[in-house]
Amino acid sequence: MRKREKRERKKQDRGIVDFMMVTNHFFHALREWILEMDDPRNQSYITYTQADLGYMAILKNVCGQHSMREMDDNFNKETCIDTLRLMSGNRELTEMPHYDTLNYYLEKLSPDCLSDLRKKMVTSLIRGKQFNRNRLLRKYWRVILDGTGLFCFKEKHCDNCLCTEKQMPDGKKMKLYYHKVLEAKIVLSDNVVISLGTEFIENEKEDVEKQDCEINAAKRLLEKIKKDYPRLPICIQGDALYAAESMMELCRERYHWEYLFTQKETRQKVLDESYEWIKSGDGAEKIKGLCEEKGTACYANHVEEVAGKKEVMNVFEYEYETESKEGKTHTVRFRWISSLEVTKRNIEEMILAGRGRWKIENEGFNNQKNGLYRIEHLNSHNSNAMKNHYLLTQIADILMQLYLAWNPYIKELKQTIKNTSSGLLESFRGLAVTEEDVSYIFRYTTVYLE
Ligand SMILES: [Zn+2]
Repeated sequence: MRKREKRERKKQDRGIVDFMMVTNHFFHALREWILEMDDPRNQSYITYTQADLGYMAILKNVCGQHSMREMDDNFNKETCIDTLRLMSGNRELTEMPHYDTLNYYLEKLSPDCLSDLRKKMVTSLIRGKQFNRNRLLRKYWRVILDGTGLFCFKEKHCDNCLCTEKQMPDGKKMKLYYHKVLEAKIVLSDNVVISLGTEFIENEKEDVEKQDCEINAAKRLLEKIKKDYPRLPICIQGDALYAAESMMELCRERYHWEYLFTQKETRQKVLDESYEWIKSGDGAEKIKGLCEEKGTACYANHVEEVAGKKEVMNVFEYEYETESKEGKTHTVRFRWISSLEVTKRNIEEMILAGRGRWKIENEGFNNQKNGLYRIEHLNSHNSNAMKNHYLLTQIADILMQLYLAWNPYIKELKQTIKNTSSGLLESFRGLAVTEEDVSYIFRYTTVYLE
């Protein structure tokens, strides 16, 4: 694209106006949902509505404002106040809320309110049927479990901190306090992978005998997901850490879901030996020329019968040759275990589903950590506010991903996500939203996603 064309195209990019249009298209009732939450504040002393504060927190995330102070400085403009007023619907709004006001509110608000808000958003996306064709085997929604560290401190931060002892280079032992979170992300399409559930990995109190861990958090998270989405057909995915029989039993027997985990010899040794044994006796199916790399797949169903296990364990693998920068060839291998039977017809889709999770691990959280939102930045030392900040980031991320999937400029202008969020900030600060924009935002339109 020519420089001039590029400038013309950039002019059409309306930034925050388009963001509001996409948000309104998918969630007409978002404002009402925010206002319906249980307001924890004393109603006689409040200046700002929950929608004022909620939208401001969403804007903080999508405009890439990492600290509360940075947000206060950048959002202190007439145009920002006007746009926020339009979003929140509070006609009496005359000032941007101060970050202390937001933090005070988030210290009091129950995180369940934001979880419920997210549930309403996810449910309406699923009901919209727009993403149905991306379900695994046309039936199952893929839900991916993934844990990540959030904060680490040298001193105790709160009573729920996880604690570890680390050997320092000088031989001394040092205690470290940290917080971790387990996310369940639902795959709506290749580029829309959003938060379905969150479980904080934390200790109930100080000095517990056994620290909370990812598997325990996963069990709590699965229970919540079943409660929130009782009839949703789900295939749970995760890395080898989750390939434990107790997890498989939970998925199959208790929740009637399917599973697809990365298989590692170290995690399921007997199963791996059984599979190798079947393969060596020509009992496994082999198919060549699959996927982009034209690699080779191999699979055997019901390996549990040989391994003497109770749960259904179908094993499949994929390998291809690749050349390194130095010109050396090496083989890349993947192996998975699933309750879904593998066939000649579905093997390619199963491989893509299994590998898809790499994308999430590498892009999803990285984006949240280093690029766009800096989830590791501590906005408040209060642990309730910390959870709410985290959940608001997930909610903002849903809106951001839909906006990115819709955005025709990003691809054409080869914009990075970071540039997109600074573009949103620029337009939020600089653009006076007109009557015409308002009717564009609220008009009923069809929104095409990539
Ligand atoms: Zn803590």
